Amino acid sequence: MQIIGVEAIPLRIKREEAYLGVLPKGAGQEAYFLRPPYRALYSAYFETAFVKITTAEGLVGWGEALAPVAPEVVQQIIEQLLAPVLIGRDPLDGNVLWNVMYDLMRERGYYGGFMLDAISACDVALWDLRGKILGQPVYQLLGGAFREKIPCYVSGLPRPTAHERVELALEFVEKGYKAFKLAAGHGVREDITSIGSLREALGDEATLLLDAHWVYTLDESVQLGHALSDLGVGFLEAPINPEDIESHARLAQAVAVPIAHGETERSRYQFRPWLMQKAADILQPDVGRAGISEVIKIGLMAEAFNVKMAPHLSVGLGICIAASIHTAAAIPNLYLLEYQPPVFEIANQLLESPLVCASGFYEIPRVAGLGVALDERRLRELQA
Ligand code: MG
Repeated sequence: MQIIGVEAIPLRIKREEAYLGVLPKGAGQEAYFLRPPYRALYSAYFETAFVKITTAEGLVGWGEALAPVAPEVVQQIIEQLLAPVLIGRDPLDGNVLWNVMYDLMRERGYYGGFMLDAISACDVALWDLRGKILGQPVYQLLGGAFREKIPCYVSGLPRPTAHERVELALEFVEKGYKAFKLAAGHGVREDITSIGSLREALGDEATLLLDAHWVYTLDESVQLGHALSDLGVGFLEAPINPEDIESHARLAQAVAVPIAHGETERSRYQFRPWLMQKAADILQPDVGRAGISEVIKIGLMAEAFNVKMAPHLSVGLGICIAASIHTAAAIPNLYLLEYQPPVFEIANQLLESPLVCASGFYEIPRVAGLGVALDERRLRELQA
């Protein structure tokens, strides 16, 4: 088996409703905008970067990086740096190729960020290829599924008022979903009120989670954390700036609510200090940023620390979702996988046969590779 082609395909899809809900006032004239109080850049489009790896025998593996903004950066890294070292190699040498790719820019300090996003896309495509070559679903090659289907939580509840968020959550309760994450970070008092209204409406049976989007200080996080413990919240995600591991460690020690962290990190090396310092109770790597290979390794490393995994999954479109499902199946210490209903719907429009998420669980594709096929004609139309 020999790789003969590596093509990166950036994509932008225009939608009425952006990721995390309607566009804030004044946004949308430009592709990218801010969503205060969050500091990260968001896109009015759904953006992603796919990679297509082809073998001399005519097999194709698909990968995807999480690329919510500037997917062309991932494209450039893949085409200029990664493709030349992958071409001519055997796709069955996945672990070896990961190291080859990682080492290319490691000593120049590019062992995170866009570089790892690009490597992750290729890693996912190589797993898809390996599955197709060996005639096995990816989860099987990873050592088997620890569960029949993947438990998930409905993420974000992107509605402007507490009342509308409760209504939205109740719609999903009707459909059998029991776990919800609130996109918060609007001030400690407001966050407590918002999650409190969800608890009141959904009852003690519901799993409630809160994402603070890195807006708080340690003191504010402790205050919020105590209230969340009282409300039986399943985790407090991203309370403090992601570089501040020590404050997370102090927070984790001070409050009973589990602290979740990880969408900013991309490798076992980056997660290591979080475990060593007991700064997180739940790790949230994204397969679109860490790849299947690293998320499995991070999961095994976390297991040795009795830490659970709740993989992040935001605007990955199709390939990334399938890769996350296979990976979540093969992780022993899975808590929940993220589920973004509006993104899922868009992703399925790019697939020849849809992925299924129902009653709080993703179904695991059981055919060779990732078990999903991109509708390439539709992809090329959207790309034009
Ligand atoms: Mg988050």
